[in-house]
Amino acid sequence: MSTETAATAPIETDAVIIGAGPVGLFAIFQLGMLGIKAHVVDALDEAGGQCTALYPEKPIYDIPGFPRIDAGDLITNLEEQAAPFHPVYHLGQQVSAIAGDAEAGFTVTTSKGTTIACKVILIAAGGGAFGPNRPPLDRLAEFEGKSVFYLVKRREDFRGRRIVIGGGGDSAVDWAVSLAPIAEKVYVVHRRDKFRAAPESVRQLHELAGTGAIDLVTPFQLAGLEGEKGQLAAVHVKDLDGRERSLEADRLLPFYGLANTLGPIADWDLDLHKHQIAVERSTCETNRPGIYAIGDIADYPGKLKLILQGFSDAAGAAHHAYGRVFPDQALHFEHSTTKGVTQL
Ligand code: FAD
Repeated sequence: MSTETAATAPIETDAVIIGAGPVGLFAIFQLGMLGIKAHVVDALDEAGGQCTALYPEKPIYDIPGFPRIDAGDLITNLEEQAAPFHPVYHLGQQVSAIAGDAEAGFTVTTSKGTTIACKVILIAAGGGAFGPNRPPLDRLAEFEGKSVFYLVKRREDFRGRRIVIGGGGDSAVDWAVSLAPIAEKVYVVHRRDKFRAAPESVRQLHELAGTGAIDLVTPFQLAGLEGEKGQLAAVHVKDLDGRERSLEADRLLPFYGLANTLGPIADWDLDLHKHQIAVERSTCETNRPGIYAIGDIADYPGKLKLILQGFSDAAGAAHHAYGRVFPDQALHFEHSTTKGVTQL
């Protein structure tokens, strides 16, 4: 994988893909098969979008041809499939502005000052710039990434730990059930006695609480952190009557959902439908010619926020974009079996 973090002079390429989630990664392949070179920008430090950031070890069952595949493995495969086309990844930077048009070409600018000149833009930005809802705790930043985590990348990293999980939704309940067998202790702190998760998961949670494997700390809320140099020693919780408890713990997993904002995308003169961009269904072109939206961020009648539909969006957008990148060349449709994979 080729990676550039920042550049001063504008880089020139055919296409910029905004978002390195599963759909952005597959778009590299689709563009590449048509001879279109791509640079990919993502706000996160790693490729994979929701699959990497939210559920890398969860199996997905509805990817055609894979009866079951872990989300992280799907991303590895997509990166491998894209690799022959030598995409350049600009990770850890958000696209902050786009300028220009299909006639004159576009310029994409990122939060790190990278500027890329291109002929077409494919927005594969999922739910937009997403980040965790953070609990309002003093000194939180000191512990983030060291002993406070908003996602579990590797379950094994939590073996033998004393873990406080905050929240009452699917993530909180699923991870409590999943981590209980390998953790020294799991507390689940929730402000209500009832959990908003799949009934079977809630049943397992109560069963584990019955055996003492999980301590349900309800109705309590997180109130403070104790520890030094980013290493947690205890998490303080409070109930509505002001009663306090101190939970000895070395890991905190606050699962309060994701803040979902379009961020700068809302300022790009695109036709927005709430948190999505309206596109023409067959081509995924937006109201701005030369700018396409694919995957979860795209909206058209019957749109399903599924990876497989995002893959189809990527194919449609790439074929339409060909006419914009190579206006003087007719596109002769060929199957991959006929064409093979030719490196760019
Ligand atoms: P995303 O995966 O959301 O990636 C978008 C990327 O764009 C992100 O990395 C983000 O950082 C980046 N980005 C956004 N704005 C900017 C910007 N301005 N600059 C730079 N980068 C930006 N789908 C299925 O088909 N099957 C399943 O079984 C399934 N299970 C799921 C389970 C869970 C727990 C969750 C949360 C989702 C599940 N999904 C499933 C949904 C699936 O993950 C999404 O449909 C898919 O991730 C959408 O891919 P995407 O590439 O469009 O967007």
